[in-house]
Amino acid sequence: MNPRYRAIETILSRPPQAPVDQSRRPSEMFGEHVFNRKMMKHYLSKETYVALKETIEKGATLNETIAGPVANAIKAWAMDKGATHYTHWFQPLTGRTAEKHDSFLELSDDEAIDKFSGRELSQQEPDASSFPSGGLRHTFEARGYTAWDCSSPVFIFETTYGKTLCIPTIFVSYTGEALDFKIPLLKSMAMLDKAATSVAKYFDPGVKRVVATLGPEQEYFLIDRLYYELRPDLQLAGRTLFGRPSARGQQLEDHYFGSIPERAFAFMNELEQEAHRLGIPLKTRHNEVAPAQFECAPQFENLNVAIDHQLMCMDLIDRVARKHNLAALLHEKPFAGINGSGKHNNWSMGTDNGKNLLSPGHNPEENLMFLTFFVCVIKAVYDHADLLRASIASAPNDHRLGANEAPPAIISVFVGSQLSKILDDVEAPPRRKKNEKSSDLLHLGIAEIPALLMDTTDRNRTSPFAFTGNKFEFRAVGSSANSSNPMTILNIIVAQVLQEFKETVDGKIKRGRNKEAAILDVVRDYITASKNVRFEGDGYSDEWVEEAARRGLSNIKKTPASLDAYVSEKSLKLFTEAGIFTKEELHARHEVLLESYIKRVEIEADLIEDLSTTQILPAALKYQRELLETVEGAQEAKLSKDAYSASLELAEEVGKLTSAIRSGNKAMEKARHGIESLATREKAIGWAEQVLPYFDSIRAAVDGLEGLVPDEYWPLPKYREMLFIK
Ligand code: ADP
Ligand code: MG
Repeated sequence: MNPRYRAIETILSRPPQAPVDQSRRPSEMFGEHVFNRKMMKHYLSKETYVALKETIEKGATLNETIAGPVANAIKAWAMDKGATHYTHWFQPLTGRTAEKHDSFLELSDDEAIDKFSGRELSQQEPDASSFPSGGLRHTFEARGYTAWDCSSPVFIFETTYGKTLCIPTIFVSYTGEALDFKIPLLKSMAMLDKAATSVAKYFDPGVKRVVATLGPEQEYFLIDRLYYELRPDLQLAGRTLFGRPSARGQQLEDHYFGSIPERAFAFMNELEQEAHRLGIPLKTRHNEVAPAQFECAPQFENLNVAIDHQLMCMDLIDRVARKHNLAALLHEKPFAGINGSGKHNNWSMGTDNGKNLLSPGHNPEENLMFLTFFVCVIKAVYDHADLLRASIASAPNDHRLGANEAPPAIISVFVGSQLSKILDDVEAPPRRKKNEKSSDLLHLGIAEIPALLMDTTDRNRTSPFAFTGNKFEFRAVGSSANSSNPMTILNIIVAQVLQEFKETVDGKIKRGRNKEAAILDVVRDYITASKNVRFEGDGYSDEWVEEAARRGLSNIKKTPASLDAYVSEKSLKLFTEAGIFTKEELHARHEVLLESYIKRVEIEADLIEDLSTTQILPAALKYQRELLETVEGAQEAKLSKDAYSASLELAEEVGKLTSAIRSGNKAMEKARHGIESLATREKAIGWAEQVLPYFDSIRAAVDGLEGLVPDEYWPLPKYREMLFIK
């Protein structure tokens, strides 16, 4: 039997998934796998608890005197919970997380004991030679260190087969270069903290700290595991390299916010429980636009913790799906022709005294504070659009950006019509009526901002960077991405503009201008300077592509060239002056990203050749042989031409498409050969420009055959089978 049919039979005869135990409320379970404040209090002496709390709040590293007692407490807690091993859990440049487990077991005088020292908690030295480093580390000196990031709590990861104590860490080379995503993120948060605090003090001298916040929305697809197992392209490349559109896709628009299919619902319940145990505040769940596409989102948290939680969440999505006979697809574009998946990064800045800097306040003064931060973010996006574009670049995201349902590769900012009007009024104040005496802030409508935002219904799904009332939503981030990179860049560019803002305003104040007027002057200048990046219209339209070009905004469609922004003179200056990356580190990262691009498209090319040759061609040729036998039989029986012309025609069509596959593969091989010896950057561009077009032409032939070859001969699960969960 065709394996697809067998899969359908199995799926239909499978008993429904047992529901998860929901006798305990989410709030009761929340954080039970986390060494949180409550557990610290319980397991630590009062003095150690206070010292650890201070370390965490300061974002400092663990001091040697408390490392021992803290490790003991964590060990006791973890063992009470049934953990047998511990691991430093870090974020190498592969984009996901890495772990190497060690048992608590140790032999001491021939006696087996459980041991976990302060040293083992604070630092490890994994043999890290096989992680990407972009040439920073030669394998012969491949030492890397991991060290606990105390600001992110220790947790226990539970799978069906055991429990592991996980310590979130940074990953750094022996010579001090960052080898991960976390170090630059933490540095960028510190930079933003400093810059934003100094500006916030103009308005509220009580502000001592500013922390970036993130609420990441994760989109994903769920398909039955059996189909996934029959699609090597999904398994190895994360996306379908072939597949004819299903007659019914998303055109009926009936999936978005529709009632959640039972199987997906069961999956979500378990995902949420697991997440809540780990202290991940998952809150929202719903169907997305495409069939079989869903979304989950947590309540926002401090940026670095939110990212650790997001990475854990992706891991959970994979694991829980497997338990439900499902495969979760986190790829940006698993299916051609229907919506891809993003990870909307909702970002803002909060002060230690509880204020969201991107939320308008209760009086005109607070609204000026809002406007200041708001305009500085817009200016940052304008000044460094290319860097933001680069921050979200990856081979899979190329299929999403600029494709019809995702924000384009042109970076623009949407603010809504009400705020646009305010910005316009601030830039060119409307004339005052005679005898009108109100202050500038009232006159310019700044006082009205909160009321305007309350009733604003403006939403623009087509913008890559949209203001949504009290935060910016960076929507161009890909669903499989580690948000660290885009968030690091966003923090840095905003911090840089805030620094510049502060210097300029201070200069004006020194020269005698009053504070409010000086701030308004600079806000006004920034509005003018960054005007071109604001766009309120349909970001998916062709008119916008033309308009953006007229405005001088860049539109770099493919990853390899977009990555140049990392190593431009401007970026080198920005990153090195900020102390985030050295020149060597930046070049190394650039190299890692290019290499990762090449590896991903190489895998796809190999798969295309392999699958089209070993699965598609045999099915098509079998059919063609049958057709020709029919023709031969009909001719022998001296039937009229009408009796076999359909077979003849079909055999001809099948033949043309099989030849196209064959010649496409040969030409692709040749194109690959032609770029083999190029330097990394040129090779990546070569892939994008010279090899990738064959992906499309070979696919067109394969998808054509899918529409001709008998259903029972077709080896790969079809879109209509995968996309509608039974
Ligand atoms: P949408 O309307 O785009 O679907 P929601 O309003 O539900 O989104 O919010 C999306 C995400 O934004 C949530 O994770 C939410 O916690 C987060 N969010 C809200 N306020 C902030 C903030 N100040 N900083 C960062 N994220 C925030
Ligand atoms: Mg959203």
